[in-house]
Amino acid sequence: MIVKGQEDLEPWQFRRHYDEAIQRNYRDYKLIRITPRSEENLDYLKDLFHSQSPYELDFWQPPTHIGGLVDVTVAPQDAEIFVRDLDNHQLDYLVAINDLEQAIKSERSQDASIDYMQDPSEFRLDKYNTWSSIEEHLYKLRDENPDLVTLIEIGRTHENRSVLVVKVGGQRALTPEKVSIWVDAGIHAREWIAPATALIALDKLVNEYKRDPEIQNFLDNIDWYILPVMNPDGYDYTHSKNRMWRKNRRPAQCKKNYFHTICCSGVDLNRNFDWFFGSSGSSSDPCHETYHGPSAFSEPESRAVKEFLEKNPVKAFITLHSYSQLWLIPYGHRKRSYPQDYSTALRPLALRATKALNKLYGTKYAVGTGADLMYEASGASHDYAKGTLHIPYAYLIELRPKSTMFANGFLLPEKEIRPTGEETWEALKIIADEMIGQFVQPKIRPSTEKPIATTETQATETPYPYTEPTAPTTPKRLAVKTTRRTEERVVEPSSTTASPSSSTILPAPQKVVKCKDYGSYCKWWKIHNLCDKERVQQLCALSCLPECQI
Ligand SMILES: [Zn+2]
Repeated sequence: MIVKGQEDLEPWQFRRHYDEAIQRNYRDYKLIRITPRSEENLDYLKDLFHSQSPYELDFWQPPTHIGGLVDVTVAPQDAEIFVRDLDNHQLDYLVAINDLEQAIKSERSQDASIDYMQDPSEFRLDKYNTWSSIEEHLYKLRDENPDLVTLIEIGRTHENRSVLVVKVGGQRALTPEKVSIWVDAGIHAREWIAPATALIALDKLVNEYKRDPEIQNFLDNIDWYILPVMNPDGYDYTHSKNRMWRKNRRPAQCKKNYFHTICCSGVDLNRNFDWFFGSSGSSSDPCHETYHGPSAFSEPESRAVKEFLEKNPVKAFITLHSYSQLWLIPYGHRKRSYPQDYSTALRPLALRATKALNKLYGTKYAVGTGADLMYEASGASHDYAKGTLHIPYAYLIELRPKSTMFANGFLLPEKEIRPTGEETWEALKIIADEMIGQFVQPKIRPSTEKPIATTETQATETPYPYTEPTAPTTPKRLAVKTTRRTEERVVEPSSTTASPSSSTILPAPQKVVKCKDYGSYCKWWKIHNLCDKERVQQLCALSCLPECQI
């Protein structure tokens, strides 16, 4: 914030003057964790959040409901009086972080030997990389995998950085048409775990394509559009100047009152989409953390996403945020407001995805709309994706950590990057699997076949033309070697198994084959006699290979 005419300012406005060109230091800033126990408590906190507070506060978790934790940082000079004020209002609170600057340092790897050995600009999946190293990594990924990876610059930011979408797609689709999935991260600059998670998903898709049949299935049937850092200006700013910056870097806008002018930078990009723009949970004050901007799509980043999605329709839209472990479904602009297929399609898939996520490390997610679980917020991208673009499945995922007494909010330790990425990938696999089952599978089913689900979403889809199966080929004979479980057995090709012809695009024959189905659609392919296709046998060994059905 830049303040002119300081001699006329109130004391709190003096305190809030920071030169944005100088690195912010959060020494002795406190993170106060408050539990509202009554309507009065809640009203007091909401008032602090929405209106001009006399204290220098930054709400990491705004007040939502009685019993819901509120995280707010307070400047050292305001801490004592703010805490006294909380006491006066009989609020339960604790000081979760006593020195925010120290907590910011602790977010990085604690392994000094690793730090000493590593070049700070080197890209690694288990650290919080700078924007320049991420950008370099993306170009390298494209150069090393030209058949799989395409880089698309969908726009440029206020500070002239690229808004870079990575398109990842395989070449061996069973059907000519593929579906698309969108994953973005880093719309809010300080939520560093989100880009790190998107980059892990990207890494799995690209680097495991050649050896993992499940990934082959995902890439051969799906074009993935991954935008690892939607707000590169803000992200870069959190690395260079202010770790706790949230918005983009729209140049400062100034507002005047009788005596002085206050200028503030940045727009909250997740309030800048045109779903009930400016109606709830966003601010018209450029100095507020949830400033929605002068108009819907006023910002180059949100406009770039809009224009890209209008030209490149997707079936699933995932936007990654942090924190509090919530899987949010549209709509978030108003409480008890749901799309028609909320309970028939969106919520069941979200529950399955979070169940798969939970299975890996036991991480628990709550599922629902942002308005019901947290607070109303208009102009969010996932609401726009569902409400305006009619993308069937749109979700906002609030990643680790959970909003608990002992977590550090946005400052998730680097050692949690890997597990967060791994468990989120488990959820994304469920989404991908469903997109193939629901939108690719009908293309190879007879047109008389009824859809799998009877959701509103699916009912509105254009029917896909039936693709005649190609002439059957003789299935490979495989000898059963060992039995692990009834649904997953390892079999080995017999010595008489013919090698694929030199013209085939299938991967090199493997010594062992797992008796496993890589998708719920396998049973449909079997029913419709597609098991004689080699690719189907690879993906659906359990359903298709006679040896697997003993
Ligand atoms: Zn966010």
